[in-house]
Amino acid sequence: MNQLVAALFMGWVAFPLAAATSARPNILFIMTDDHAAHAISAYGSRINQTPQLDRLAREGMRLDRCFVVNSICTPSRAAILTGKYSHKNGVPVFNRFDGSQPHVAKYLQAAGYYTAMVGKWHLGSEPTGFDHYIVLPGQGLYHDPAFLDRNGRRVINGYATDIITDLALEALAQRPKDKPFFLCLQHKAPHREWSPGPKHATLYDDVEIPEPPTLWDDYATRTDAAREATMTIARHLNNRDLKLPPPAGLAGPDRERWLWQVPMEVTVEVKGRRETLTGEALVKWKYQRYIKDYLRCIASVDDNVGRVLDYLDTHGLRENTLVIYTSDQGFFLGDHGWYDKRFMYEECLRMPFIARLPGVIPPGSAQSAIALNVDFAPTFLELAGVPVPADMQGRSLVPILKGTRPADWRTSMYYRYYHDPGHHNTRAHYGVRTETHKLIHFWKKDQWECYDLVKDPLELRNVYNDPAYAATVAALKAELARLKREVEDRDEFADTLPPDGVDGQTFTPPPKGQPSGASNAP
Ligand code: CA
Repeated sequence: MNQLVAALFMGWVAFPLAAATSARPNILFIMTDDHAAHAISAYGSRINQTPQLDRLAREGMRLDRCFVVNSICTPSRAAILTGKYSHKNGVPVFNRFDGSQPHVAKYLQAAGYYTAMVGKWHLGSEPTGFDHYIVLPGQGLYHDPAFLDRNGRRVINGYATDIITDLALEALAQRPKDKPFFLCLQHKAPHREWSPGPKHATLYDDVEIPEPPTLWDDYATRTDAAREATMTIARHLNNRDLKLPPPAGLAGPDRERWLWQVPMEVTVEVKGRRETLTGEALVKWKYQRYIKDYLRCIASVDDNVGRVLDYLDTHGLRENTLVIYTSDQGFFLGDHGWYDKRFMYEECLRMPFIARLPGVIPPGSAQSAIALNVDFAPTFLELAGVPVPADMQGRSLVPILKGTRPADWRTSMYYRYYHDPGHHNTRAHYGVRTETHKLIHFWKKDQWECYDLVKDPLELRNVYNDPAYAATVAALKAELARLKREVEDRDEFADTLPPDGVDGQTFTPPPKGQPSGASNAP
């Protein structure tokens, strides 16, 4: 922009305008909910193929160490929008996002971008900073979902992942063509209850999905938190998660109660014979039930990413559009015996992040520099030629995406998770991850874990009390303290959390024709 302004003052108008157009790329931010990188074949998945995401990776860059600063849905979304940690953006748990604060969409809108939010919003308050929005209320539904926009609420029949893609393509078709766009295309999939669409309902029926190497983790060297968490494949997936049919005749509250029960014995047909499964055989069966539905949801996401890439290709938008594919955090795919997220362990700390921008991002490349979800907003601003506000805590990934790594790039990251006990009886914790190690402090019980990520990438051996690691632990504690100061985190903040409420509550769109109540000013 500055170059453009200077050129205009020099009376040299025609060329700089054209140059400015190509210097301000469109930004298409595709984000799913709970899609772990290890369920993408471009990331070396052992359990599925994702041809369209692989296509994006082939034409762009894969980040191998992109981490979330608080591994849970609503807080990650707030961190992405604001470029700030939870204690700065006011969303440490499932509380409502204060839409009057500055964020990336407002900055881009003020800089002349057309801004649109389509799909899963999950921040409780009415979206601000978007010229157009159509979002799921709360968690939203997989089948025949309702949507909220400035005209109110409407149900759209079909499968959420297909519909959200349709709505995004509609937004692209109807956008003002004289502005660059910032479109957030955000899927509900593959969030729990992992409900596939009709097209993929029987995919994987006749195959056995490989089990993760840590499915039988016994937590032998860990602190209490792992044993206390109620998110195991074995003991916490319920009848609804496992898509077991309710007994005939059960209705109303009795049916609902049954759906939330955890089956500890299941009778199924195995090779033409009826068999009752318990113990280890039942856990293996539950894993297959769970992972197949999760992967069916991803197959639909992958197809729909392909539809979007095709649209860009056929509408002349390929060359000047940054396309990002990411997810709000990772997920346990049976790893450590779990489903869900929240912990600072690798499977859910890591976010998939694939980016394509022809002529800027080297195709088929990968980078291992530590990137964070708070970096996304500064990245978009730099690409749009908008100065990054000093209070954004992330750093633009543009040099990383160009295939370079500044000498002063971070070599460690700070993490903090707040829910305790939350939905899955998790323990709050904070910690540091370097390029080689991880230190976690479950502060309410003052319990520590330390992992050597080079020798023990699956994080199975807590070396916190191993004398051979005493110097490493001391150095990690010093780094943790430094990072905590750097991001200005305060323990007092974690002691007074706002109440959860976003899952069950949502905003009411203003009456038709009325302006939105929330501030759109950056
Ligand atoms: Ca999520």
